[in-house]
Amino acid sequence: MRILDIVERTVPILTELKNARVDFSEMTATVVAVITDQFRDGRRVVGYAFNSFGRYACGGPLRERFIPRLMKAPAAEWIDPASGLPDPLQAVRMLLRREKAGADSERSMAVGTLELALWDIVGKLSGRPLYQVLAERFGLPDASLPRTLACYAGGGFYQSGNDLEKLDAEIRGYLDMGYTAVKIKTGGLRLADDLRRIEHALALLPDGSHLALDASCAFDRQQALAFAAAIAPYGLRWLEEPCEPGDLETYRAVSEAYPGRVAGGENLFCAQEVHNFLRYGPAPDRVVLQPDPPLAYGAGEFHRIVQTSVLQGVPLEHIVPHGGNMMSLHVAAGLGLGGAESYPGLFGPFGGFSNEIAVVDGRVNLPAAPGIGFEEQPALYAIFAQLSS
Ligand code: MG
Repeated sequence: MRILDIVERTVPILTELKNARVDFSEMTATVVAVITDQFRDGRRVVGYAFNSFGRYACGGPLRERFIPRLMKAPAAEWIDPASGLPDPLQAVRMLLRREKAGADSERSMAVGTLELALWDIVGKLSGRPLYQVLAERFGLPDASLPRTLACYAGGGFYQSGNDLEKLDAEIRGYLDMGYTAVKIKTGGLRLADDLRRIEHALALLPDGSHLALDASCAFDRQQALAFAAAIAPYGLRWLEEPCEPGDLETYRAVSEAYPGRVAGGENLFCAQEVHNFLRYGPAPDRVVLQPDPPLAYGAGEFHRIVQTSVLQGVPLEHIVPHGGNMMSLHVAAGLGLGGAESYPGLFGPFGGFSNEIAVVDGRVNLPAAPGIGFEEQPALYAIFAQLSS
């Protein structure tokens, strides 16, 4: 097969959502289409991906380095000779030639987005959903392939005007959809007001184990410890990103003081960063690890992240990719992880899953469409389709 063209575009996410540290009013995403000369079922095979949420578009490095490198590379450097299909792991090795070590986030999103678009092509050419392709490539035995996956609704952003009323309606909506666990933002108000907000959410749920908190890196060390002490009696599902991602000492201190689980990882961009996080930050047996596949070099690097995490004592069921999109869902299912996040109704066309996915009792079924299956997500597919038309 040949790649005819690779098209990328920056798309505004258009949302007024706010967490403790930032609002998303200027947030953008990069969408990518890798257009091939192949056809399946009368349709041209095009690999699609986007760079998830929260880190702005990554068109610069894509346009200047990675798209030209992939377009120029001989097929032998990124096509598996046995199957004739793209080998995304080999492609990443080729893309990273002439890249100095370190400063991974400068390129991990551009490379990860391209890598996932290549996996989409592999799935489409082999007629299988991506999670099955990943399971085979990374050695998850057929018998342990899941039929459903645990999934929680991530939301509870701060909203202007009647925040508590809106929070109430949002959580009730998630429960009506079939979710049983919810995550809300925290750390953006005075402690007493945040506790009131938490108690408001708890009143809608059976107990604290159904509610997680995301502090979005809001606290310094003292604040993080005070906050952790204040929420300890609630017995919550986890406390996410209490401090700066690189403040491993505070992560460790919170993990030692707080009896529940501490979560983090959406701001770690490669296996080495995750290794350091687990070695020097929160206790691995009580962490919930949440890297985001397209933000961190893609599914292949995610597999390395899983390997290093398991070696350091993180149970597979505590690895729950960030992102709330079809890419994270496939990676979680294909690597046998504990579950996935979902953003139903948030982030415009980029939030939520495809039409194939239903939520029952806090679990989602897995999709059957070949590849990632963005074609079954009409509002998002309309954006992708413009790239390849
Ligand atoms: Mg988060």
